[in-house]
Amino acid sequence: MSHSSINNMLACHQCDSLLPMPLLSEGQKAYCGCCGAALFSKKKDAINRTIAVAIAGLLLLLPAILLPIIGIGAAGLYNDASLVDCITVLIDTRNYIIAFAVFMFTIAIPTVRLFTALYISLCIKFNRTKPSLLVFFRSYHILDTWTMIHVFFMGVIISMYKLSSLADMTIDGGLFSLVLLLLCSTLVSVTMDQHSIWHKLEQALE
Ligand SMILES: [Zn+2]
Repeated sequence: MSHSSINNMLACHQCDSLLPMPLLSEGQKAYCGCCGAALFSKKKDAINRTIAVAIAGLLLLLPAILLPIIGIGAAGLYNDASLVDCITVLIDTRNYIIAFAVFMFTIAIPTVRLFTALYISLCIKFNRTKPSLLVFFRSYHILDTWTMIHVFFMGVIISMYKLSSLADMTIDGGLFSLVLLLLCSTLVSVTMDQHSIWHKLEQALE
C-alpha cells in the first residue's frame, strides 16, 4: 500500500477495522460500517465560527486581566482587586504555586489556545498552510486536555457569586470578562473541526 492510500484510510477507534476515508458534507457524521461507532463529523462553517469565537475571546483578555474582579467591603473600607492584583498578592504572600496556577489557567492557557486556534483558522481560510502549522496544531491539541480546568474555574466563580449575596462582596466587570473569556476558550473546541484540519494539513504537506 502506498503512502497516499494509507492516508485515505481510517481506523475505527472501537473495533480497529480499517475503513476508506468518507467524504462528508457539512453537518454530516460518519459511522463505522462494522460496529456502528461514531467516527467523526464535519462541523458547519467551522473555520469562520472558530475565527469569530477566538477574536471575541482575545478581545475579552484585557478587561479580564485589568478590570477589578471582586470588591470586598469591611468596616467601612472598600477594596477591589483585579486578576493581576490577586496574583501579585499571592506572590507577596509566598503562595507561588497558587499564583502560578491562577496565572496559567486564567491567562496563559486560554490566551495560547485562542491565539493558536485563530492563527490556524486564518491560515486555512486564506490557503496558507505550511509545515509550522503542524507544530501550532499539536500544541493546541495538548492544551485541549486542559479545557476541563476552565469548567472548574467557572464553577469556582459561580460559587463566589453566590457567596457575594451573603458577604459584603461585589462582583465586578473583570470577573464577567473572565467568565466569558473562559467560555470562548471552551467554545473553540466545539466550533473547531479538528478532524478536517488534520486532514487539510496532511494534504498540504504531502
Ligand atoms: Zn468499528
